[in-house]
Parts: sequence; structure tokens; C-alpha cells
Amino acid sequence: MYDADVIVVGAGLAGLSAARKLRAAGRSVILLEARDRVAGRTYGGSLSNGVSVELGGQWVGPTQDAVLELIDELGLKTFRCYADGDNINVIDGRVVRWTDDQMFGLSGEAEAEAVRLWEALQTLSQTVDLDAPWNTDGAADLDRQSLDSWLVANTANATTRALFRLLVPGIFSAESPELSLLHFLFYIKSGTSLDTLVSQTGGAQESRVVGGTHRISEAMAAELGDVVRLNTAVHTVRQDHASVTVEFDGGSLTARHAIVAIPTTLAGRLRYVPPMPNQRDQLTQQMPAGSVIKFHVAYDTPFWRAEGLSGFAVSLEHEFNVVMDNSPDDASCGVLVGFLEGAHARTACELSPEERRDIVLSALTTYFGPKAAEPFDVVEQDWAAEEFTRGCYGGRLGAGAWTQFGKALAAPVGRIHWAGAETATIWNGYMDGAIRSGRRAADETLAETP
Ligand SMILES: Cc1cc2nc3c(=O)[nH]c(=O)nc-3n(C[C@H](O)[C@H](O)[C@H](O)COP(=O)(O)OP(=O)(O)OC[C@H]3O[C@@H](n4cnc5c(N)ncnc54)[C@H](O)[C@@H]3O)c2cc1C
Repeated sequence: MYDADVIVVGAGLAGLSAARKLRAAGRSVILLEARDRVAGRTYGGSLSNGVSVELGGQWVGPTQDAVLELIDELGLKTFRCYADGDNINVIDGRVVRWTDDQMFGLSGEAEAEAVRLWEALQTLSQTVDLDAPWNTDGAADLDRQSLDSWLVANTANATTRALFRLLVPGIFSAESPELSLLHFLFYIKSGTSLDTLVSQTGGAQESRVVGGTHRISEAMAAELGDVVRLNTAVHTVRQDHASVTVEFDGGSLTARHAIVAIPTTLAGRLRYVPPMPNQRDQLTQQMPAGSVIKFHVAYDTPFWRAEGLSGFAVSLEHEFNVVMDNSPDDASCGVLVGFLEGAHARTACELSPEERRDIVLSALTTYFGPKAAEPFDVVEQDWAAEEFTRGCYGGRLGAGAWTQFGKALAAPVGRIHWAGAETATIWNGYMDGAIRSGRRAADETLAETP
């Protein structure tokens, strides 16, 4: 009657981690993946000189124990990103050099205000109940306001506001009015602290995986062998009291349980029979992904290093405004990685590749001088255009959504369980969270049929 104990939908880090855990527990599993590859949002690419670059998720750092231990277990290696020297910010038309112990190059009242807000957010975030954010003290009040309305209410300083309006898309690829204060606080605590989220050394952007993060998924898929079936886009999930049947073009498979390990908004586009309960369906309507176009700009050498620059640049005045050194470990060429995020991605996706390249190179020339105008390669990846992702870095909840729909985010519906970075409590939205979520969903199905 059953084709497998569990069918997993989606072979990103979440789905693969779920399948791996179930296999280790002796359960039979089938993992269905829509694309012709595994790894989802951790897609590997390469420059014209053959150097590998990550087109999606790339950095790992301290407190991300699940992903760090998995990398080690799979025999992969990490290396520290280059972070020596001064960083750049563009403020009031001036290129400012700053170091890691300074507040992004701000000074005077703007700096003092930014420090005050930073500490306030950090302190408030520690009150969030990660397992049930809707139960946090004062949840209704925290959830009723957008992060932007909180900013406006808490500082009149235009430069301080501009800094936070830059950092929010940097973390969510969405704008500060698009998420609730409660969601931002949840995310800070989920990722340890605001410092951890934005930092290179000691933070979430500290290290990379040799050869690219897609190798984590590829290594798990290799272990799982023919459990993984590519080019199989699931469109319908049916369940009754005894089984779940998952349907795709050209076939269907039946199991005791299903784990749907795809972004929450895409989970809402599947057909369910019987239909999802109101709360679950409405939750999936409330969790859009952000917009991001990721760029790798490659040079013969990492020339900025000789000028005492780390390669990390932000700008309060440019569209291409978060940039870091992404050169290979051996510095055989120089690579700058950067992003058009949120509102900037939404306008830039309608331009030609040449027009986007002009935006990118013009900003890099401001940050790093005329040599930045002469790359040998520019590689771009627009995640909102991807049929089986439709935006990044992950899903977010706007004002009022956590307190009204949050309970439905990860709660199973009958025999259907939910995984994916969006459903994680620790490192929500990150590779680490995706892995934890897959293991949690696997545990749920194991507990139901011991
Ligand atoms: C540009 C970018 C930068 C990022 N930077 C970082 C970073 O530096 N560090 C970090 O930790 N995280 C980063 N992230 C986030 C990280 O990549 C994700 O959190 C993580 O990879 C999500 O894994 P997942 O398994 O939950 O989802 P996904 O990777 O999205 O996997 C879901 C899978 O389901 C498949 N699928 C979708 N629909 C169907 C269907 N109907 N039927 C079958 N299969 C389907 C998809 O093809 C995909 O393979 C970044 C993401 C992006 C895009």
C-alpha cells in the first residue's frame, strides 16, 4: 500500500536533512525535487576562469552548529573570508573609511542614536519566545508595528534611520515597512544577536565552504542515492486517515507521512485535498520572500587589499549597497560579492543586464576607485525569477501576522509536516535553520509511527 514510510518534497538542505535522518532511523524515504539539481537556494556557479562562486546562500559562522557539524561530518572544509583592513560607507556624499569596532562609519549624533537603537533592539529581542513568538510578553504591541514605524517613533535622526533602512534589506532583502517589529526581534534572537547577524569575523559572514555550499546538499544526495528523484514538481498532496498521496506530472506516490520542505509561500501554492485549515492557508498567504539579485564581480587581483581595504562596503546613497570580498582562499583572483536588495531589486529586475552592470560598477568605482570599473567577469543571479524559489533570502512576516497566524507555521496538519528555513526557531532563514527544521520534521514523523 505504501511506496515509502515518508515522502519528502524539496531537496534543499531541509528536505535532504529530513531524508537523511529518516534513513538513519531505518525508515524508507522518497525525496521529490522539482529542479534538475539538488541544493535549492544554495546553488553553485562559476566564473569564466573556472573559480567557483555561490549564487545563493554562502556564509557560515559561529553558533551555526548544525551546519558546521554537518560540513565536518560530510568531509567538507571551510575557510575564513578576508576581513582585514578598513571598510567603506558613503554618507552625505563622502566616502568614509571605518573599522569593525565603529558603527558603520557614522559619527556625532547619528552614531550615538544608532548605538542607542541597536542596544534597544538587542535588549528587546532577548524577550522573544523563539518557540512561540506570539506568547512573547507584549507580543501584540510588538507585532502591531512595522520595524519602520518603530524606527520613526524612536529616532528623528535621518542618518540613523538611513542606516537601519540599509541593514534591514541586507538581512531580509525586504524593506523595513515590510516586516513587523516582532519578526525582526525574533530573527535577531534566532540568529543569536544583531552583532552576529551583521558581522563577518565572529558573525554570520565569517566563513565559506571550499568549493561552495551546494556541496553540502550534493554530498547528502550522494549518500541517499536513488531516494532522490529530480525533475519531479509536486502539485497536489492528498491525505486521509491512513496515508498521504503526493501527485506530480506523470505519477503519484503514497506514504504514511509527507514532509513538505519548500519555502512557505510555495507550500501555499500546492493543492491540498482536503484543503488546508483556514489558519494554515492564511499563514502561507502572509509569508512572502524578499527580492534579491546577487552579483559576483571578478578582477585579476583583489586590488583593494593593497590599499588597506577589506572589501566590505555599504552605502547610504547607492542601490548596490552591501559588498564584500568573496575572493577564493588562495586569492588567485579578486572577487567582490554584492546585492541589489528589496526595492532596488524590484526596479533593477526590469532593466537590461547591461543597465544593472552599470549600476553595480558605478557603485564599486565609488567605493574602490577606477580599477573597479574593469572586471573580467560579472555574474548575476535573480532569485525572485526562479520558479521553485520566487524570492530570497527567505520568508518574513509583516505586522500582525505572527500573533494571528504564527501557530500554523510549523504545526503539522494531519499527516503533512512542514520543514524549510522559514520554519526554524534557531537560525531562521539560514542554512543552519534549514537543516534543523528538516531534522525536527523527521523527528515528528518518527514520533508518530515509533
Ligand atoms: C542570495 C542568497 C544568499 C543567501 N545567503 C545565505 C548565507 O550567506 N548564509 C545562510 O546560512 N543562508 C543564506 N541564504 C539562505 C539559505 O540559502 C536558505 O535558508 C536555505 O538554503 C534554505 O534551504 P531550504 O531547504 O529550507 O529551502 P530551499 O533551498 O529553497 O529548498 C527547497 C527545494 O524545494 C524544491 N521545490 C520547490 N517547489 C517544489 C515542488 N513543488 N515540488 C518539488 N520540489 C520543489 C526547490 O527546487 C528546492 O530545491 C541565502 C539565500 C540566498 C538566495
